[in-house]
Amino acid sequence: MKVLANDGIALSGQQVLEKAGFTVVTDTVAQDQLVNEINDKGYEVLLVRSATKVRTDIIDGCPNLKMIGRGGVGMDNIDVDYAREKGKKVFNTPAASSQSVAELVMGQLFTIARSTFDSNREMPGSGATSFKSLKKKYAKGVELRGKTIGIIGFGRIGQCTAQYAIGCGMNVIAADPFVKEARIPVQIGTQKLEFEIEMLSNEALYQKADFITLHVPMPADGKALIGEEELAIMKDGVRLVNAARGGVIDEDALMNALNNGKVAAAALDVFVNEPTPRIDVLEHPSISLTPHIGAATLEAQDRIGIELASQILEFYQVNA
Ligand code: NAD
Repeated sequence: MKVLANDGIALSGQQVLEKAGFTVVTDTVAQDQLVNEINDKGYEVLLVRSATKVRTDIIDGCPNLKMIGRGGVGMDNIDVDYAREKGKKVFNTPAASSQSVAELVMGQLFTIARSTFDSNREMPGSGATSFKSLKKKYAKGVELRGKTIGIIGFGRIGQCTAQYAIGCGMNVIAADPFVKEARIPVQIGTQKLEFEIEMLSNEALYQKADFITLHVPMPADGKALIGEEELAIMKDGVRLVNAARGGVIDEDALMNALNNGKVAAAALDVFVNEPTPRIDVLEHPSISLTPHIGAATLEAQDRIGIELASQILEFYQVNA
């Protein structure tokens, strides 16, 4: 049995598969060569992350392909329903990266609270000549402890972020149409505690939160969840984090709100039109930026690899 891991797979997962007798190839095949390569080499399993697209051409063109696996959560690069209609098993690894995304969010909360992302940009060029003026510029930071964080989307990543935020002494509120009640377990040292989270409507949350972080899928209608109207009812000086999907926050509305001071700072890990985001977004002095690395830790990649491998073994009913 042959597996093509076209966007790579962690060694941990590759080793599980190879031990079970699978051949795993991790060389990236160009998108327009994939159909030929899969058929010529007889691959039955195609594993991708976000780079490789699995559209109808591959699904129709590779009749012997049995499984399509996505290392990670979002499957917008795969025509999932069509592939399933054609009898392919399509799967992902939804839980493996929640902690990594939550930790990135916490890092972003700390940096947008104190503008350290921007002082890191300014210090190399101006630190030696304008130290005092930079010190003044970055002297209006705020603390996280005691502030209210609003979590929009209270699924895996949202709940994981809540655990960290509680640990930082933040007051956590959340909004999710499918979660009416939530109790979050938090382990600090040997102590296990449980915290009840106040669940609100999105609108009520916008009005109460000092920090807002988004953990929702892209709405099916493609319309931003946060646009001008939603920003208008938020607190003045709110700080926002988007590590969900580009377009969940309307980028024009965000830029306006940053420019008029409604939003004090934002952190974006995801962008409209990846991998070529808008230059004015990238250059904005009040936006902390990362290039869609929420899930990209060694630990998450290991968990993803193992989870992909175990689903393949289960499908082929092979013991590890
Ligand atoms: P999840 O399915 O566990 O949780 C999503 C939650 O959002 C669900 O509980 C759902 O009810 C809720 N929701 C949907 N629409 C909503 C709305 N309009 N308002 C409030 N809540 C709403 O998903 P997850 O594993 O927590 O992942 C969340 C998102 O994070 C994914 O959809 C993905 O786009 C993104 N993600 C990003 C990265 C990254 O690298 N930055 C990595 C993994 C996932």
